[in-house]
Amino acid sequence: MGKKNKQFVEKITAMEDDFAQWYTDVVKQAELVDYGQVKGTMIIKPYGYAIWENVKDELDNMIKATGHSNVSFPLFIPESLLQKEKDHVEGFAPEVAWVTHGGEEELAERIAVRPTSEVLFCEYYSKNIHSYRDLPKLYNQWGNVVRWEKTTRPFLRSSEFHWQEGHTAHATDEDASNETDRMLGVYADLVEEYLAIPVIRGRKTESEKFAGAKYTLTIEAMMHDGKALQSGTSHHFGSGFAEAFNITYLDENGESQHVHQTSWGLSTRIMGALIMVHGDNRGLVVPPRIAPTQAMIVPIAQHKEGVLDKAYDLRDKLKNVARVDIDGSDKMPGWKFNEYEMKGIPVRVEMGPKDIEKEQVVLVRRDTGEKEFVKLSEVEDRLPKLLDEVQQNLYNRALEHRNERTFTATNMEEFSKVLEETPGFIKAMWCGEEACEDKIQEETSATSRCIPFEQEKVADHCVCCGKEAKELVYWAKAY
Ligand SMILES: [Zn+2]
Repeated sequence: MGKKNKQFVEKITAMEDDFAQWYTDVVKQAELVDYGQVKGTMIIKPYGYAIWENVKDELDNMIKATGHSNVSFPLFIPESLLQKEKDHVEGFAPEVAWVTHGGEEELAERIAVRPTSEVLFCEYYSKNIHSYRDLPKLYNQWGNVVRWEKTTRPFLRSSEFHWQEGHTAHATDEDASNETDRMLGVYADLVEEYLAIPVIRGRKTESEKFAGAKYTLTIEAMMHDGKALQSGTSHHFGSGFAEAFNITYLDENGESQHVHQTSWGLSTRIMGALIMVHGDNRGLVVPPRIAPTQAMIVPIAQHKEGVLDKAYDLRDKLKNVARVDIDGSDKMPGWKFNEYEMKGIPVRVEMGPKDIEKEQVVLVRRDTGEKEFVKLSEVEDRLPKLLDEVQQNLYNRALEHRNERTFTATNMEEFSKVLEETPGFIKAMWCGEEACEDKIQEETSATSRCIPFEQEKVADHCVCCGKEAKELVYWAKAY
């Protein structure tokens, strides 16, 4: 490796030395985001936004395929409306940004910049649902929300972030419950199949559930450093919001009933998961299914006659089978290699005079660095298959990592030991008492991630208090 190239790579801190700094370096060097002018806000740059758009497009298709319609609700919420549901307002109050003035004039009532839009949908539903014939209402919106965070990091915790929020109303509790399950399934499919990130599906404990919800379902993913990242949540509201907002309908017998509601969201935080699950010391690694560019052609010795022409011909041919781009600039190939490795482009296609002579190209995988020589006549067939292999390998690698770093603990000594030695997920039994959750968090700074749907019995007693255990819980330090 030339001196110039070496310097380029050295711009990223090694993840083993300082994982947080490595993350910041990748975010900047891969040109995903820049910092906004107000603390905690972010400018999502073209490359970062292109990845997010691919995630968004896939999810949007899935949301529509499950019968939902997109809508757009306002950015602003009058204070009196936000106050209507007690638990909800208590949960969000510390993070709300307020508008107090319109121009020079002080407003009679403060206006919240939406931290989430439950109350807006509830108010709307209270006026627009009358009969059982109006149900279900299956709405989703794509937008941005603001939560005034004290400590912020790009994608992971930003004061303003992008997401989708689904808000639905149903005739029965069972319908709402099915919807909550369905949408968690959609998130799990998206994250596993497109982002190649394995997830644990489960229910949040009472203290970790969404403010105002009956219960919250979640998908939890393990990052490279063993910490958890909540990657999507689906909430069942029961009829709590409907009672606070008086959302009723006349059933088939002409009797007035409260609706049963859900909400569910997935945000730009998932970009943080993408970086921290697949990235390495050379930069980002983007799974092919969501990569804006799946293969980058880098011509070698492109000043030699015919090389660039052949490379562009190759681009035109491969365009039919994958999202392919070419860098025909006069930068050195070594610079280009580093640049596209940093950006995590799944496959690099090299083509120089010798390759042209032999009627072949070189395909280099970003995930393993492996090279293969492929006949020019076979590359259209081979490239899509290779992209599938990279996608599958990324998933398998992440699953293997999670399995290696998932432990069981039956007492607090074992629990603490795991977190000190190899941070990861801990499967441990719990009595169901909040006091034990609090104590675990105080002593270890791990939180309950979820009560997994797939239950096991690793002991009879609670890991913390020793009393009879109710359920298995996944615990971890989390982002
Ligand atoms: Zn206990």
